[in-house]
Amino acid sequence: RFGTTAWRAAQTAAQMEAPNQYGIGVSKVQGVVKGLTGAIGNTPLIRLNHISDATGCEVLGKAEFMNPGGSIKDRAALYVVKDAEEKGLLKPGGTVVEGTAGNTGIGLAHVCRSKGYKLVIYMPNTQSQGKIDLLRLLGAEVYPVPAVAFDNPENYNHQAKRHADRLENAVWTNQFDNIANRKAHIETTGPEIWAQTNGKVDAFTCATGTGGTLAGTTRYLKTVSDGKVKCYLADPPGSVLHSYISSGGKLVDRSGSSITEGIGQGRVTDNLQPDIDLLDGSMHISDEKSIEMVYRCLDEEGLYLGASSCLNVVAAKEVAETLGKGHTVVTVLCDGAYRYADRLFSKKWLSDKKLLGSIPKHLEKYIVL
Ligand code: PMP
Repeated sequence: RFGTTAWRAAQTAAQMEAPNQYGIGVSKVQGVVKGLTGAIGNTPLIRLNHISDATGCEVLGKAEFMNPGGSIKDRAALYVVKDAEEKGLLKPGGTVVEGTAGNTGIGLAHVCRSKGYKLVIYMPNTQSQGKIDLLRLLGAEVYPVPAVAFDNPENYNHQAKRHADRLENAVWTNQFDNIANRKAHIETTGPEIWAQTNGKVDAFTCATGTGGTLAGTTRYLKTVSDGKVKCYLADPPGSVLHSYISSGGKLVDRSGSSITEGIGQGRVTDNLQPDIDLLDGSMHISDEKSIEMVYRCLDEEGLYLGASSCLNVVAAKEVAETLGKGHTVVTVLCDGAYRYADRLFSKKWLSDKKLLGSIPKHLEKYIVL
């Protein structure tokens, strides 16, 4: 039926047919989509050629940087807004309020503008002026507030909730615990990966911020494959989830911190909770490995990716090496490097973070800032 998971899968498969000698073909082009929201999702699945050839596996990255807002979070932004509409919490002219310092805010800004809603964003005042400016020029009202812990009532998330409570026709979208977020990945990311690989996927791995991507995609792939697709969390230092999962829920190790933005988590969110037991395992990926992969993806694959994408690529490579030749491993290329270039390619920043030594000599030519 039109719009169902099977329909989407058939659509995606149809786009794969008959590419020309460059891999491009008119059959890949979709018909007209209705407005910006129609352009969210259905992203290409890119074979990472060097890593695939080196491992003897198919290592594939879902090109989420190609969404209109530039990241995986466009999917969740669309779903939390649609969910609020369907529940009657948001009516024409209404206001969306969210606590976010990053990609979710940008995704929401695009979705809200295209649908005529106002958007209010609360974020810690430690965030860059660039992020605040971008959200404002996308039409959002932005409140940078003191960066205090989640258990403090003045934390940006709680302030966002109170702001929505004070307004008529307003909703706090609550990306961490609103399960419309994981639903976006159950209904879109997972089915797209399944269709794009014709069901030939052995493993999936990615990091988590809210957990929506990992949980939703895992749920779909496990269900459609009768549990055969192996799914793994890839976790940066400073996140508690790796220790939590690998110890069977006993250990919560908060030590360390990471340069990767948008990922790492201090608790099991409502988005993760229903699916965390479906995971086959978890991995810790160091900043040294993630940053080296930022440079390798640029040099070898021509892909300009953010650090969370590259942490995911490292994880996919490690899963491929563990599974051995002939397997297909999928991960997520969450966003591009554009918003982080002043850090990732800056000599001073790399040296402040003690990561300069992680960039192989022949790739130092990319340290241009
Ligand atoms: N990478 C980046 C760059 C992000 O902004 C986010 C979201 N915070 C993620 C990965 C993680 O996605 P999710 O919230 O679905 O776990």
